[in-house]
Amino acid sequence: MKILVINSGSSSIKFQLLEMDNEAVLASGLVERIGEEEGQLKCTFMPGTASENVVKIAEPIADHNKGMLLAVNLLTNPEHGVLADKSDIAAVGHRVVHGGEDFHQPAVITAEIMDAIKKNIPLAPLHNPANIDGIRVAQELFPGVPQVAVFDTAFHQSIPPHAYHYALPYELYEKDRIRRYGFHGTSHKFVANECAKLMGKPIEDLNIISVHLGNGCSMTAVKNGKSVDTTLGLTPLEGLVMGTRSGDVDPAIHAFLARNRGMSIDEIDTMLNKESGLKGLCGLNDMRDIHDAIGAGNERAKLALDVQTYRNKKYIGAYMAVLGHVDAIIFTAGIGENDEIVRAKSVEGLEPFGIVMDAQANGQRVKKPTLLSAPESRVQIWGIPTNEELAIAREAQSLVCA
Ligand code: ADP
Repeated sequence: MKILVINSGSSSIKFQLLEMDNEAVLASGLVERIGEEEGQLKCTFMPGTASENVVKIAEPIADHNKGMLLAVNLLTNPEHGVLADKSDIAAVGHRVVHGGEDFHQPAVITAEIMDAIKKNIPLAPLHNPANIDGIRVAQELFPGVPQVAVFDTAFHQSIPPHAYHYALPYELYEKDRIRRYGFHGTSHKFVANECAKLMGKPIEDLNIISVHLGNGCSMTAVKNGKSVDTTLGLTPLEGLVMGTRSGDVDPAIHAFLARNRGMSIDEIDTMLNKESGLKGLCGLNDMRDIHDAIGAGNERAKLALDVQTYRNKKYIGAYMAVLGHVDAIIFTAGIGENDEIVRAKSVEGLEPFGIVMDAQANGQRVKKPTLLSAPESRVQIWGIPTNEELAIAREAQSLVCA
C-alpha cells in the first residue's frame, strides 16, 4: 500500500511517498519558492528504486496546484519506477498544524472536517491556510483517494485543564480559545511509542519526557502514553530556547518595548519569532555554527549554548515533578539526534535524580535508536530519530484500513 504524505507551507510543499508494506521511503521531495519568479522542485528517489538519484526542476511555479502537479508527474514518470499511476496511492496524509480543541485524533477529511480546520485559522494564521491549500490540491489531483489530516496539536489534547489554562481572565479562553495547545505532537507521540517498543513495555506503563530539539524546540511530559504537559503554548513560541524563537520571556517585555522603544505589536512579534533564540543571543541559529564559533573563542556563542541547555534542564526538572516517576528521557530532532554536547549539558548535574548519561554512548550522532544512559541510571536516556512523515503515513494507513 502506497501513501503520499504532504506538508504544505505558505510557499513550499514537502512530500514523501512511502510503501507501507515495508515502510520504505520511495521518494522524498520539496517544492520551493511557489509564487516567486523561479520555483524549484527537488526530489530524491531512494536506493532500490529505478533512479536512485536527485532530480531538480527549476521553473516558475505559480501556485500549490502547479507545484503538486509537477511532483505527481515526476512520481508517475516511468523512468523513476516508483508509481505506475496516481490511482496507486491508497491515501494522502496531510500535516495540519492547528486542530484547536476540535481534534484529539487524526481524521479522514470530509466537508465538515475542512470547516473545522478553517475554524482554527485564527489560531494558526500562517500555517492552516497553507495546509488547506495542500488538501484542496490533493483532493483535485487524487479524486476518490482518502485524504487524512494529522494534527500537530492532537496528541496534546489530553493535557488537563490545570496545565493548559493560562492564569488570564477566563473569558479569553471562552471567547478567544486562548490556552496552551502545544505542537510537535506527531513527533512526540512517535518517539514515545518507539521508546516503549525499545524498552519492551506497553506505553501505558511508562512515564517519559520527550525532548524535541530542532529549529523549533519543545518538551513534553508523557504519562502512561498520554501528553500531560508540553512547553509550546497558544503558538509555537513558548518554552524552550529555539533557533530564532525566544521561548519563555516575561510577558511584560511586550509593554516595555512598546512604551520605551515605540515598537509595534508586529515588530515585537517578528523579533520574538525570527530574531531571538540562539540567533538573538549570538547571531547564529544553527547549532553546528555555534560550536564552531565557541571553538574560535566566541563568548556569545557559548552564552547561547548555555542559555538553551540551562532551559532544557530546568524543564526536565519541572516535568520530573509533573510526572513523579520518570522511566525515560528521549532526545530527538536535528539537535537532539546529532548534538552530544547539548544532550550532555541538558542533563548535567541531574545524577542525584537518577539521570546518568554514559559519555561514550552519548559521544556520537544518533542514526538509529540508541541508549545513551549509563547502566546505573534509574532513568533511561534515549536518542531516537524522529520521523514525522512515517508517523503521518501510519496514522493515515490505520484510518483508511480501519
Ligand atoms: P526543523 O525544526 O526545521 O524540522 P531539524 O529537526 O531538521 O529542524 O533541526 C535542524 C537543526 O538541527 C539545525 O538548525 C541545527 O541547529 C541542528 N543540527 C543538524 N545537524 C546537526 C549536527 N550534526 N550537529 C549539531 N546540530 C545539528
